[in-house]
Amino acid sequence: MSERTFSIIKPDAVKKGDAGAILAEIVKAGFKIVSIKKISISKSQAEGFYHVHSARPFFGELTEFMSSGAIVPMVLEKDNAIADLRKLMGATDPAKAEAGTIRKMFAASIGENAIHGSDAEDTAAFEIGYFFAGLELK
Ligand code: GDP
Repeated sequence: MSERTFSIIKPDAVKKGDAGAILAEIVKAGFKIVSIKKISISKSQAEGFYHVHSARPFFGELTEFMSSGAIVPMVLEKDNAIADLRKLMGATDPAKAEAGTIRKMFAASIGENAIHGSDAEDTAAFEIGYFFAGLELK
């Protein structure tokens, strides 16, 4: 069944100039781009986005990183979009990611790992609404 998910090309990948190549992988994998933009967010906006991780030891590092430069948030659509994007992204730690995954190809470390993707229906709904207004989601 057609489903929507949320993704971010993270600051490390945007800085390196990899955003276009990552988008090409996403499109090649059959995702339709419903909405996309390039923006920067503050540390407190990153904290709001990652609130579920607020007790984790890397929360400060993560939110500092996500507010360190431009990001490319997007809403993607296809059958099984949530699970399929997670597969295409690869493991959180690029050293453990399978060949052909975005993190294997473009990420440098467990923290600076090129791409975010929602992990469930409820988080996808929250994350889409955090970054996009209804008007931007046809
Ligand atoms: P994901 O769903 O694969 O993105 O991974 P998680 O939900 O576990 O973590 C969210 C994000 O936090 C990851 O994508 C990383 O950017 C960051 N992160 C996770 N583990 C670590 C860690 O051990 N150190 C640092 N610095 N960041 C981490």
